[in-house]
Amino acid sequence: MKDSSGKKDKKKRFSVKFCPKCGSTDVYWAQGMPQFWSLWECRNCGYRGPVILEDGNLATKLQEDWKNKQKQK
Ligand SMILES: [Zn+2]
Repeated sequence: MKDSSGKKDKKKRFSVKFCPKCGSTDVYWAQGMPQFWSLWECRNCGYRGPVILEDGNLATKLQEDWKNKQKQK
């Protein structure tokens, strides 16, 4: 008999990623490009870069900024 005691199932914390430009969560890891081994891409604003946000508060601010920018257009 196998004993599966000891380790409790840890809840996997899903870390949300945000675009540093527009605050959108519609970002994905752009892999498959050897020259850009760490590149994120945003489907919302087209941002491409190695920087990604994981701070929800900051992302909310960015989203507001982004919306304002879109309105001014
Ligand atoms: Zn974006």
